[in-house]
Amino acid sequence: MSYLNANQDVEYIREVSDQALDLMSEYNVIPSPPNYQIWYNYAAEEDMSLTKAIDDLIRKKKSFTSEVCANLHEKFFSTNKEHDAVSTAGKGIQKELTRLAKTVGDMNKDTFKYSSALSDSLEDISSIPGGQELKLIITSLLENTSEITTRNTSAQKQLKDSAQTVQKLQAALEAVRQESLTDMLTNIGNRKYFEESLQKAIADDLKTDDNLCLVIGDIDHFKNFNDSWGHHVGDQVLKAVAHSIKTRVGDTGMPARYGGEEFVIVIPDTTLEKAQEISENVRQSIAQRSMKRKSTGESIGKITCSFGIAQYRPGEHRTHFLERADAALYKSKSMGRNRVTLEEDAPQNVVKMAAG
Ligand code: GH3
Ligand code: MG
Ligand code: MG
Repeated sequence: MSYLNANQDVEYIREVSDQALDLMSEYNVIPSPPNYQIWYNYAAEEDMSLTKAIDDLIRKKKSFTSEVCANLHEKFFSTNKEHDAVSTAGKGIQKELTRLAKTVGDMNKDTFKYSSALSDSLEDISSIPGGQELKLIITSLLENTSEITTRNTSAQKQLKDSAQTVQKLQAALEAVRQESLTDMLTNIGNRKYFEESLQKAIADDLKTDDNLCLVIGDIDHFKNFNDSWGHHVGDQVLKAVAHSIKTRVGDTGMPARYGGEEFVIVIPDTTLEKAQEISENVRQSIAQRSMKRKSTGESIGKITCSFGIAQYRPGEHRTHFLERADAALYKSKSMGRNRVTLEEDAPQNVVKMAAG
């Protein structure tokens, strides 16, 4: 485990970049910027689902045509940018429609004033000799003005309705985005949510120079559990574990399902000691929970989880950050499971509590 300074990081980026370009040439991929983004990510193994998608395509001997690459890009990269662009445009449109509705409203006020002035003149004219003809003209003007007011009022209502429609569309868009970031089984953040929150937390950490911790948790002997009770009950356990994590972490961190029976928690602005306290809390809450089969209420025993924690080192690549937390998790496993281990491997950093 080596601390990565800025120069090493550049070295790492160069190396991954070379690999990405070699792969693109090997698979005849057009070297466009979006394609480079895909293959850089693949070479760096930054997103397991992307890695798996490309590996599958390679295994099936598919060509990386422009269409295949565009689909990959859309699936793994463009959602946020598109979402942000649509969201910003939507807000702009909504603001503009509201402004227009107000302008039409002001116009109506002016028209009303004009109409009152005309009515007043109508009364004044009655006393003037030969005013009858003028009266006819002004009456016709008043009728036209009234028509304009009616049309303006209707236009104003339409503009207000449109602004509301845009607002509803934006809410629908946000709901779709939330869904794309949520793990369907456990209802907590998914891998994509994790990647996003980690990236954002690292960017914030570099700005504020606060502590940033990453926790990885993995259910102990889950394979045995599935073998004994079946996948369906296993899924219920995953939900229960996710619930415990979510409840105990609260607003202090961003929990997500990393994949399978592994969970991650990004905890910004927190020292290792505090992250350890939170993880210990989660560990105990899982271990103390007596799991029951939902359909029958039958007890299915206890479940435990092992955890590893690392603190971010400014400038390091997030893959290394993740690796350090993973190494600490590995230590928890090798030392007997159901425990929380801090990075830096020293045995004194392993916290073992009474099981259950
Ligand atoms: P360890 O304590 O070393 O982590 O042992 P383990 O058995 O938990 O680890 P291993 O990686 O050998 O097995 C993980 C198991 O998790 C394999 C699979 O049966 C189970 N699993 C992964 N994803 C799911 C899922 O979505 N639903 C269910 N029910 N089981 C899953
Ligand atoms: Mg695992
Ligand atoms: Mg496991």
